[in-house]
Amino acid sequence: MQNRSQINLFSNRVKWLLVLLLVNIATARAAVPLPVTPKFRIIVLAEAGGIHQPFVEAAKIWLDKLASENNFAVDYIQNTDQIDDAFLSHYQVFIQLNYPPYNWTSAAQAAFIKYIEEGKGGWIGFHHATLLGEFDGFKIWPWFSTFMGGIRFTDYIPRFADGRVTVEDPSHPAMKGVATPFLVQKEEWYTWDKSPRPNVHVLASVNENTYSPDTKTKMGDHPVIWSNEHYKARNIYIFMGHHPDLFQNSAFTTIFRNSIFWAAHQ
Ligand SMILES: [Zn+2]
Repeated sequence: MQNRSQINLFSNRVKWLLVLLLVNIATARAAVPLPVTPKFRIIVLAEAGGIHQPFVEAAKIWLDKLASENNFAVDYIQNTDQIDDAFLSHYQVFIQLNYPPYNWTSAAQAAFIKYIEEGKGGWIGFHHATLLGEFDGFKIWPWFSTFMGGIRFTDYIPRFADGRVTVEDPSHPAMKGVATPFLVQKEEWYTWDKSPRPNVHVLASVNENTYSPDTKTKMGDHPVIWSNEHYKARNIYIFMGHHPDLFQNSAFTTIFRNSIFWAAHQ
């Protein structure tokens, strides 16, 4: 009986040794190469919830993949509470992912103005970033309206329309490799009280005559992608940004990708 229990004790020890060995192998396999310092960092102010949630979620998946493939870092925030000079100093690009230009803390507004005016980093804004007017009990932010070319939001196409977008400056780095015109499906096509054209560098505009279905919600000269070169920061506004399907549109993803590397001075 004693022999039997000694054998059991021995085999238990062997089992434990094997377990330890396997744990060691697994740990060694899980060891990843030393972290590489990202080439640049992006902060994304992402609209939370509401009608744009599917677009924002698709954008995050796309951005995270692009970041891992190109060795840059992306952080996300859903409100402006953390934004001040010190916070923004960590980032080379600020992406306003449909977050509107209202309901920002005053510290965030001040830091953002400084960031753009002093060119501390680049900026890419989408869709809701031109929701300029009185919304949700907030007043218009005049500085932001000027930044966007002095415009005020007037209307949108709630039932959506397809439209063809003309690239106006194919030499701009953000437009590299983008065929013109390109089709954008099911967009809301905001209208503003005037064209921002006199105040900005227009990179693309939608041809309202190509709207399908046709609609009365038109503004004539209708820029949809532009950059305001009166500010030191490399900046670009891209109107398109309602439906997650945009991430299946190669013109849209090319412009987004180009804009990131341009804004980051890469
Ligand atoms: Zn929308």
